[in-house]
Amino acid sequence: MKKILIVGAGPAGLGAAHYFSQNPYFDVTVIDKGKNIEDRIKSSNSSLLFGLGGAGGFSDGKLNIHQSVGGNLANWNLTKNQALNLLNYLVEHIYAKNSPEPLHKIILNESENEQLEKKAKESGLRYKPIQQIHIGSDNLPKLIANFRNELISKGVKFKFETDVSNLIIDNNHCKGIKYAQGEEYGDEVILSAGRAGQNWIQKICKDYNINISFGDLELGLRIEIPNKIYEEIEKISYDPKIIIPISDQVKVRTFCTNPSGFVVLEDYSDFVGVNGHSFKHRKSNNTNFALVTALNKSQNVNSAEYATKLLKNISDNTGKKAILQSYINIKNNAPGIGNSITVPTLREHIYENISDYYPAETLSALITGLEKLNLLIPDLCGSNTLVYAPEVKFRQIKVQLNENLESSVKNLYFAGDCTGLVCDIIHSTATGWLIAEKITSKYKTSELV
Ligand SMILES: Cc1cc2nc3c(=O)[nH]c(=O)nc-3n(C[C@H](O)[C@H](O)[C@H](O)COP(=O)(O)OP(=O)(O)OC[C@H]3O[C@@H](n4cnc5c(N)ncnc54)[C@H](O)[C@@H]3O)c2cc1C
Repeated sequence: MKKILIVGAGPAGLGAAHYFSQNPYFDVTVIDKGKNIEDRIKSSNSSLLFGLGGAGGFSDGKLNIHQSVGGNLANWNLTKNQALNLLNYLVEHIYAKNSPEPLHKIILNESENEQLEKKAKESGLRYKPIQQIHIGSDNLPKLIANFRNELISKGVKFKFETDVSNLIIDNNHCKGIKYAQGEEYGDEVILSAGRAGQNWIQKICKDYNINISFGDLELGLRIEIPNKIYEEIEKISYDPKIIIPISDQVKVRTFCTNPSGFVVLEDYSDFVGVNGHSFKHRKSNNTNFALVTALNKSQNVNSAEYATKLLKNISDNTGKKAILQSYINIKNNAPGIGNSITVPTLREHIYENISDYYPAETLSALITGLEKLNLLIPDLCGSNTLVYAPEVKFRQIKVQLNENLESSVKNLYFAGDCTGLVCDIIHSTATGWLIAEKITSKYKTSELV
């Protein structure tokens, strides 16, 4: 019997637990600093990112069925076909199986998509059609609870409200974990602490000489528009991934579209960012989506430090609220939403100038990107267009893994968003699953019995 400790009960940790739960010779404990899903529902924003289900717990639950959108599984030694097979397997055996109602597959209509691709090209944009599945924020908590119950029935143990502070390392071998209430020994340790856990992961890597490189930082805006502006495009693509070239070096991209959705705050303790989600049954009158651009790499930015400083400065000045400004007021450099009739779905906002906080060239690229997108989505840049900041996608660090997906410390593995190598629900689940597969293949059956 081998004892497995998994730190983080998000999609990556649960993906690993799922794989191990098929084998009776693994004794698996999943530890999370947040609460169980039923208790998370009762808490406020601070539990948006932490607890059973992780950051995915209250997310929109859009699953990107694409080998390189949301994470490139080639980095995990999979071919395109292997990656797609694994993603579809996980959809069927985890997400569809535990969903309280049949999953909504967003079927791509080939000819409509070709037309959109053509129209995008004519406008100088690139549209990337991908297959998606929408679970909905209202169905996710039930799905996660069902999944947890299935894991428990197969012997997986859960420990909540346990903040893992350090590891037990002996002679470059990971032997367990430490937390305020004590410590726990195990044969293999998987860290799946998510994006919000990257500061901690960075410290662990520094303390134990695990090689990392700085990740990419994307800074952006969340755009909120009346549904009717988005109606036509939604018929073709629920969440269109559009790339908008600004110059040879700079491009802007869209993702995480939430038709009839809501803008929400992402609370990282020291600072907040914005994100969006949508329910299957509860609808707003607005659609929101993210528009981001990578920070100029020539600045040789340590994205962790840069992002933390920028986001902290905004949060310190806004009292941890989002900045809300209308598109027209950004153009006029005036705070507020002017005469927009769009009712903002995020209440925790204040009126300030985004330009007071964002690098001028970044904001200019984003607004140019929005204006180019207007060629594809008429009326996007109108008086009723709201803009929230800060929207940030930062992969502070990229953890270097060997061909066995193990770190340079023996028996220590990293999975999901905290690796800086993936950034969505289904790809995080896949990396946890792949690591569990690798660990299992290390042992002969005779060693496990
Ligand atoms: C509002 C919102 C909407 C989103 N919408 C989508 C979407 O529609 N589709 C999509 O694919 N992705 C979406 N995402 C992103 C997606 O949720 C993440 O990519 C995914 O959850 C990452 O999974 P993970 O397991 O790697 O990390 P996480 O889900 O972040 O889980 C990490 C877990 O580790 C725990 N943890 C961290 N540090 C410690 C520690 N020291 N000790 C113990 N526990 C610890 C945390 O409490 C957390 O539960 C959304 C995210 C947000 C916030």
